[in-house]
Amino acid sequence: MSSSNPVIRCENVTKVYGTGDEAVPALRGIDLEIQAGELFMLVGPSGCGKTTLISILAAILDATSGVCEVLGQDLSRLSKGQKNKLRAFNIGFVFQAFNLLPSLTAAENVAVPLFIQGVSRGKAIAKANALLEQVGLGGRQKSLPSQLSGGQQQRVAIARALVHDPKIIVCDEPTSALDHHTGQKIMELMRALAQDHGVTLIIVTHDNRIFSYADRIADMDDGRITRLLTAQDYQQEGH
Ligand code: ADP
Ligand code: MG
Repeated sequence: MSSSNPVIRCENVTKVYGTGDEAVPALRGIDLEIQAGELFMLVGPSGCGKTTLISILAAILDATSGVCEVLGQDLSRLSKGQKNKLRAFNIGFVFQAFNLLPSLTAAENVAVPLFIQGVSRGKAIAKANALLEQVGLGGRQKSLPSQLSGGQQQRVAIARALVHDPKIIVCDEPTSALDHHTGQKIMELMRALAQDHGVTLIIVTHDNRIFSYADRIADMDDGRITRLLTAQDYQQEGH
């Protein structure tokens, strides 16, 4: 793994929500480099800044200060349109709350990133259907989110993050609603994307059953990365 050309590079990134008396410091100086094909996990207590950090990495949220480069581009220098384009072509995001559109079928939800890219409906739905098969939802392609269980909705959200072959996939607790077996299957799919296609994965998780899939794991606390280890060393330290 070369450290000369990271896919993600953060230097002293901070985030403060609100201003004045209402200011909430969420990130207090994050330094981080993540390489192509790495499967990187972030672990830490609720409120420590995990969602804030991955939202900045995914160009969904702007940092307050510091430098954040994604695929060699300094996010602070990109226009809104350029950030939208970066996301549409290069980034997949699995939201903690899934964020599926209630009036669209599972396949249509998965196809949304392709619709945004301008791919034809037929092609987009075909690709979405194939991916839903891969995450174990063959036969549920025409279901609405309200007709699916939490775990099934989570798999739809994961398929949506993969459908446009992004270079970076960012996931907020992707296995939280999945049983052990399904969680392992999803992680094997993600591991294969990283190893075979050089996709970079950044995963927020509390699920110690999936730690072994990581290359590196970072602990976060109160807006800072407090420890950064290989998955092997992390587990040897008693997790
Ligand atoms: P985590 O994902 O680790 O639970 P978050 O990144 O969601 O943490 O939140 C970090 C801190 O920022 C928390 O104190 C949270 O209350 C605060 N926060 C998050 N989002 C907002 C927001 N939109 N406005 C104000 N404060 C926020
Ligand atoms: Mg969160």
